[in-house]
Amino acid sequence: MSINIMKAAVLERFHQDLVIKEIPIPQPKRGEVLIKVKASGLCGTDLHIQDGRLPTVKVPYVPGHETAGEVWELGAEVDGFEIGDSVIVAIDILCNTCRFCTTGRGNLCTHLVRLGFERNGGHEEYMVAPAANLLKFDKKVPYEKAAIIPDAVACMYHAIKNQGQVRASDKICILGVGGLGLQGVQIAKHFGAEVFCTSRQDRKLEIAKQSGADHVINTTRENLFETIRGLTSGEMCDVVFDNIGIDSSIQTSLDICRPGGKVVMVGYDEDIFHVQYQSTAMKEKEIIGIRGSNRRDLVETIRLVEDGIIDPYIFKTYALDEINQALADLRAGHSLGRTVLLL
Ligand SMILES: [Zn+2]
Ligand SMILES: [Zn+2]
Repeated sequence: MSINIMKAAVLERFHQDLVIKEIPIPQPKRGEVLIKVKASGLCGTDLHIQDGRLPTVKVPYVPGHETAGEVWELGAEVDGFEIGDSVIVAIDILCNTCRFCTTGRGNLCTHLVRLGFERNGGHEEYMVAPAANLLKFDKKVPYEKAAIIPDAVACMYHAIKNQGQVRASDKICILGVGGLGLQGVQIAKHFGAEVFCTSRQDRKLEIAKQSGADHVINTTRENLFETIRGLTSGEMCDVVFDNIGIDSSIQTSLDICRPGGKVVMVGYDEDIFHVQYQSTAMKEKEIIGIRGSNRRDLVETIRLVEDGIIDPYIFKTYALDEINQALADLRAGHSLGRTVLLL
């Protein structure tokens, strides 16, 4: 096998398994870096991509948008990195000129291109990324934990800090705690909130408890509204994170949200949702969107992980060759938290 060849998990067609192929190692262009991928996280969005639900994604290509690795080769005009640096890869390639990029909200960039979506991502042995997308981290952080910072951890951080504006002693609820929500428990505790979590699976709620959740509610057995009402002395939650994202979960989130409170839409599964107008508008409840995170969130999140304040929760790791099994487990709901490919 030539030294210029690597293994990659290629999505050749929608609705099909990925194919492990040997393809040429990409070359970094000006301003780009070649990374030896060490860990590549799997996300529910990988399933949406496989199902052809993201119109900007064109096949064949290599998915994977939660990547950590080692700087392997520098393209021309790259400063600030050395061979061997441990880095995570920010997903969004920013234009840096639009009104959003120039005001610190690059996650809304008008000309957004994303690694692992419109360009090849991290489900491969070597990956090229713009140097501007790389952030260094301390080698004491294991690669599999670092890998999920760009999406699962930073996304919940942005949701909790910026969109939910969670404050100390706020009562918050994470609906459908899982790959993202379990990171969110630790982040919300860091901001001093009292944390409620829901799931239909006791094992997920166990992990949420271990992650610091104050109250866990199995919605197959307990009435969510009544339980929250009892535990909050009738005040209900200040901020609710809907990590499920189906029609009924938005209304459920609004139901357990106090007057003037916020519902942050983290999960997405269905395109249309219906809410009761009177009880939402007349109680001045806010429904707030969220997409990814900004560079500042990534910098802050890395620091919290390096300082041991957030310990990214990984449920299971797989080898690159096992990617289809890993995706099948995720689709079947067998993954009780984030899963990561180790390379
Ligand atoms: Zn994702
Ligand atoms: Zn922009």
